[in-house]
Amino acid sequence: MTNLQDQFQRPLRDLRISVTDRCNFRCQYCMPAEIFGPDFAFLPSEKILSFEEIERLVKIFVSLGVKKIRITGGEPLLRRDLPTLIERINRIDGVEDIALTTNGTLLKKYAHDLAKAGLSRVSVSLDSLNEERFFEMNGHRGKVKTVLEGIEKAAEAGLQVKINMVVQKGKNEQDIVTMAQFFKEKQHILRFIEYMDVGNSNGWKMDDVVSKKEILEQVQQISPLKPVEPNYKGEVATRFQYQDNQGEIGVISSVTDSFCSSCSRARISAEGKLYTCLFATDGTDLRELLRNGEDDASIIQCISNVWENRTDRYSDERNEQTMEKRKKSKIEMSHIGG
Ligand code: SAM
Ligand code: SF4
Ligand code: SF4
Repeated sequence: MTNLQDQFQRPLRDLRISVTDRCNFRCQYCMPAEIFGPDFAFLPSEKILSFEEIERLVKIFVSLGVKKIRITGGEPLLRRDLPTLIERINRIDGVEDIALTTNGTLLKKYAHDLAKAGLSRVSVSLDSLNEERFFEMNGHRGKVKTVLEGIEKAAEAGLQVKINMVVQKGKNEQDIVTMAQFFKEKQHILRFIEYMDVGNSNGWKMDDVVSKKEILEQVQQISPLKPVEPNYKGEVATRFQYQDNQGEIGVISSVTDSFCSSCSRARISAEGKLYTCLFATDGTDLRELLRNGEDDASIIQCISNVWENRTDRYSDERNEQTMEKRKKSKIEMSHIGG
């Protein structure tokens, strides 16, 4: 196995694979309905990587040091036969962990098959327990009740479940405490995500961010928190335990307390482009190499070059950047997943 390092000595350890650019939600912060409307040109199926192509890429990435795979989207459970893909990835020697990020609407239906196929963990996005506010945030598409049923089914199926809540000022900050209390009781780890300036369509403003500090102040109303060591180097969430030892939360603070120095994640979009940062403006077309009949050695060479030249530290640099540079046509979150 080759151990790649980028320009800041960061290894390549995690691979996030987007299996579709489509979604059944229109979260305002990700795929606003005004932009992702009925006429939006999503990728036609022939442009999307097939399961064979994804499997081949995973094998290649594992040979370059990747140990953990996360399946994302768009909404990954919209991809037909997803459990079959999980099963294929699970058979690959060297893959230590497979996780999925989902909005949970189809989890009730698929949880059992996903667990059986070898999925270990699922992160379910849920921004509020209040039906009205949730409906508002997801673009009038889904119900809290459905997502909660999906979470229950996932836990019953033996999957490790975490909940992701994006906190946006003026939208759902009043739900921080209710969400924390609810999932403390349910014994699921809730991770608060600072609203980020991904893509170009969500109209992000710094004023809309609820900071890690503000989030923690609110959660401490339930019980004091104590920091916990990360589970592994490069973990994106900072962990905290309730002092009564009844539960844990995490905060993903990519805006106010960024963590680029330990970022070991590569991302592949549904159409097979390799991105080395969530805030990338351009990717490397791996699909073309796969479909042009290139052998593994030349694909490995291409990926190695990209990683070894990587200098991304967008979040660390965010505050130094001018608004102009920030606007430079970043790739949308729904395109490469979270
Ligand atoms: N559709 C799936 C879901 O929502 O879980 C997977 C893809 S979604 C792009 C992955 C994660 O990114 C979700 O947890 C979502 O809440 C988060 N996300 C999307 N846009 C974001 C933004 N502007 N700021 C912070 N997190 C965001
Ligand atoms: Fe869809 Fe996930 Fe984006 Fe919401 S965050 S629009 S569920 S891809
Ligand atoms: Fe990694 Fe880019 Fe996020 Fe920094 S901004 S943590 S380099 S994905």
